[in-house]
Amino acid sequence: MNANESEKVAVNRALTFANLRKVSSADAVYRLFGVPPGGQLREIGGAAAAILEHDRTACAALVAQAEVDPRRARARDGATVRTLLAKSRLAGTATMDAHGRVTLTLAAQTGVEAGYGFAVALLHDPSRAWGKALRRCAHEPCRKFFLSIASREGGPAPTYCTRVHQEASDKLAAVERSRAWRAIPSNREKAHAGDARRKKARRLAAKVSTATGTVSRQPRGDTTK
Ligand SMILES: [Zn+2]
Repeated sequence: MNANESEKVAVNRALTFANLRKVSSADAVYRLFGVPPGGQLREIGGAAAAILEHDRTACAALVAQAEVDPRRARARDGATVRTLLAKSRLAGTATMDAHGRVTLTLAAQTGVEAGYGFAVALLHDPSRAWGKALRRCAHEPCRKFFLSIASREGGPAPTYCTRVHQEASDKLAAVERSRAWRAIPSNREKAHAGDARRKKARRLAAKVSTATGTVSRQPRGDTTK
């Protein structure tokens, strides 16, 4: 996994966290960010969930600011994010091979605040594309945060978190358009006229089909009136 991919994973984790409607289980959050050594809350069950729900609200507020304008969000929330980043500590693992060569591998300890702090820092970073790609789903009942990245085949970057929400929104818009159109009095008359015209056409069609029914029972050569 290259740096770009691991950053994307980190940002998506924070967005998943922010998108939770409410934290109902601490385990679900720990599964997302991991637990730093000794970092598990002493509280358990509902009490732990309530504390993590507090974190989730803070995370969602930071992400919402970054979505509006990453530059202004950095000016406003930069200090908060730096405090969160300070909670992440690097842990090193040293190994030595048979020839006595020593290698130190560093990894960031995970934890909820450090985890979403890192993601928001990436969203704030002007040298990275994450802030610019951050959107909220345009489907009004959803409004989830997501990374809007144009597909390799081209075309515009998506404005909906899923194709399902794109389709639902298109359907809603079509209903709304026809309702708005019918709300204009002159259009209502047009619509009535259209309905009447359609009704008349249906009546006529019914008549014709009965007529042809009659005609087919008449002897040949007598079909003209
Ligand atoms: Zn959506």
